[in-house]
Amino acid sequence: MSGNQNQPSILWLRNDLRLADNPALTAAASEGRPLVVVYIHDETSDGIRPLGAASKWWLHHSLTALDAALQNLGGQLTLRHGPAARTLPALVDELDAASVHWNRRYTAARDIDAGLKSSLREQGLTVESHQGNLLNEPWHIRNGQGEPYKVFTPYWRAAQDRPVREALPAPTAAELSWPADSPASDDLANWNLLPTRPDWAEGLRETWTPGEDGAHDRLESFVAERLADYHRRDEPAVDATSGLSPHLRFGEISPTQIWNRLRGNGSGAGNDSDSGNGSADVPTAARKNVAKFLSEIGWREFSTALLFDNPRLATDSYRAAYNAFPWGYTVDQIGDVTEPAGISEVEAWRRGRTGIPLVDAGMRELWHTGTMHNRVRMVVASFLIKNLLIDWRAGEQWFWDTLVDADDASNPANWQWVAGSGADAAPYFRVFNPVLQQKKFDPTGEYVSRWIPELGTAAYPEPIVDLAETRREALEAYNAVKAAAATE
Ligand code: FAD
Repeated sequence: MSGNQNQPSILWLRNDLRLADNPALTAAASEGRPLVVVYIHDETSDGIRPLGAASKWWLHHSLTALDAALQNLGGQLTLRHGPAARTLPALVDELDAASVHWNRRYTAARDIDAGLKSSLREQGLTVESHQGNLLNEPWHIRNGQGEPYKVFTPYWRAAQDRPVREALPAPTAAELSWPADSPASDDLANWNLLPTRPDWAEGLRETWTPGEDGAHDRLESFVAERLADYHRRDEPAVDATSGLSPHLRFGEISPTQIWNRLRGNGSGAGNDSDSGNGSADVPTAARKNVAKFLSEIGWREFSTALLFDNPRLATDSYRAAYNAFPWGYTVDQIGDVTEPAGISEVEAWRRGRTGIPLVDAGMRELWHTGTMHNRVRMVVASFLIKNLLIDWRAGEQWFWDTLVDADDASNPANWQWVAGSGADAAPYFRVFNPVLQQKKFDPTGEYVSRWIPELGTAAYPEPIVDLAETRREALEAYNAVKAAAATE
């Protein structure tokens, strides 16, 4: 350990806004130095994708919750803004810090972290990065040739062969010490993360409780109330999934905590006694629910590994042949999501006015709550790409702006999956038929009528496209790139 013990240790938080199971926090606290916990709002550095509006709303509340939790332990959260490559070293100098800890990130912004690690180490600081946001580091799950997996199933099989560590407890007040003088902090209100005119966040406030406590409440209510219905996860009217995605996105809960909570929980309802209820099927069904749920956490890991190996996942087709796809409208023609698209089909899609009920219900759910059911995400994405022939990047950007769980890896990876251009993607000829999807997954129409009160009245628009005709056109367009894709 270098320097005198009064020199602080800096914990630099990014996508890990929690106190429990935070390896960087545990490591920083173990040094016994005064602890400075900093969040740097960086919107301009290379490799950073500026947050969308819904994510900003979440971040504001998550930082507020984190500051309150730190104050309970006698500390505080220090807020700074600016390019991290300048802001962090400036804080180090200001505080005469002896060490810096962070949990790794996997976007192109990791180049910033690598640069900081070497320059601060050269100055004599202890600088350590930790694994806090994934079960497995991307570079630990490689195929026999040492290359990244391109297909999920073998990836997940290999991942599950590796042990998952126990989750770390949050430090107690007695385990932490704080600087005598708190460092200056930005006023969060000045970051303008919340919408004002208009305040469109009412539905988000009704739906979500950002922060570590909210995340654990979600996990516990999922285990107690929804996990047993997880086999119905494809039905949008049924509340059968965890709702943990934004909490995972901001690192308010870790996949390690979720894994440890569910591993061995074959009861499906968090109640280890129900294997004795006389039905031999129950434990099997429950085990299947848990395994399926954990495999979805696996998709998050797989998506992150794809991004790690393909930092331009949000802009470049993973399968290069698809970069030549003859879109009816390109992303450049559509422009910035903060402006009206100027293209009526895009506008109708964004606003949930396409005249296709399942698509419109999903897009309205998204606008109102900041989330959308997974099955419906696939349907609205397929509709945009394959019925409207609009570049998947335009849809990805809209989701980026409006989803509270908008994720650097999962969003583009899933959009590319639907487009057919991604790893382990849906085959290009798979065009979801939104009418049949509704019949199958929302047979009573409960979900669509929840979001479209005017359904069945003259106020609801006629379909803006003919599904069969546009499907044919899409397949022709896909044929144009199919041959090239096959030779890749
Ligand atoms: P659960 O079913 O409870 O799943 C548990 C967790 O597993 C989720 O919280 C999430 O972290 C992860 N997960 C589940 N499905 C996927 C998946 N297909 N890919 C990656 N991780 C998954 N998910 C995001 O977290 N951020 C995004 O930006 C995002 N964009 C998407 C865009 C499209 C076009 C599609 C089709 C899917 C997208 N998803 C995204 C995946 C998925 O829809 C959400 O993770 C899921 O709906 C969140 O609900 P839940 O937490 O109740 O999921």
